[in-house]
Amino acid sequence: MKNVAVIGAGTMGNGIAQVFALKDYNVTLIDINANALEQALRTIEKNLNRMISKEKISEDDRDRSISNITTRTDIATGVKNANLVIEAATENLDIKVSIFKEIEQHAPEDSILATNTSSISITRIASTIANPGRVIGMHFMNPVPIMKLVEIIKGYSTSEEVVESVVSQTKTLDKVPVVVNDYPGFIANRILLPMINEAIYALHEGVAGVEEIDSIMKLGMAHPMGPLQLADLIGLDVCLAILRVLHDGFGNPKYAPCPLLVNMVTSGNLGRKTGKGFYNY
Ligand code: NAD
Repeated sequence: MKNVAVIGAGTMGNGIAQVFALKDYNVTLIDINANALEQALRTIEKNLNRMISKEKISEDDRDRSISNITTRTDIATGVKNANLVIEAATENLDIKVSIFKEIEQHAPEDSILATNTSSISITRIASTIANPGRVIGMHFMNPVPIMKLVEIIKGYSTSEEVVESVVSQTKTLDKVPVVVNDYPGFIANRILLPMINEAIYALHEGVAGVEEIDSIMKLGMAHPMGPLQLADLIGLDVCLAILRVLHDGFGNPKYAPCPLLVNMVTSGNLGRKTGKGFYNY
């Protein structure tokens, strides 16, 4: 299992490519946007240089990792030798379904097809291709090179063989795989997003200000970041999308997104990536 194709070279895709390349997998990084690929290679080099300055890797490791990565703008040639394909493109069901249909046509028949989705049903994506048993969720955490966890999501039809293979490959990256079943939000976001939403409700109702809410959760609960700071890091549009998946998936009003979050997203204040969310950047 040495050939990995990563589709989507954004925040998550470049991190995923980096961690596989560092462990000597042949990585093909694919994006429809050539600029995203160039930016991804710059980010990977910068991250590897930071690891050198912290004496975690050598200059040889950096050079070898970079030479292990090839970039492509088309899926067809990019996946043709892949044993494992990891889709990390934009969080949108239609985009993911069209990517999976294309992968299915061009990747080897016995390759494993993983998605890094934060919230879209693995079972739903898998149901659009001929062999749903080969589809699995591989939910890396942001920032990928630093965070140890990979939440492995077993779709309704995912085969045991595929789960075992992905678990053992995740361990080769020095990451910790944790296997869960495919229900809305899986585990990480099912628990995290209601907390973030509750923090936004507390702000909306005037119970406390942004800094007070974050200080209480950092100093009182030993969280490394406050929930509002974390929401800005994740992206408020992403937070809203995940809450909608929880709300629709369970039909329970406790997951209803706070109207303040909806207004912030509608007005284009999405957190760090737009320079303004609960904080200014
Ligand atoms: P991003 O917007 O930074 O990057 C997405 C990339 O996908 C872009 O470069 C875009 O050009 C590319 N893309 C879009 N359509 C494509 C296509 N048809 N073919 C090839 N490339 C295409 O997004 P991201 O934050 O890296 O998120 C990627 C996935 O990872 C999403 O499913 C998201 O839910 C998930 N995720 C994100 C985070 C996070 O904190 N950002 C954490 C865990 C999981």
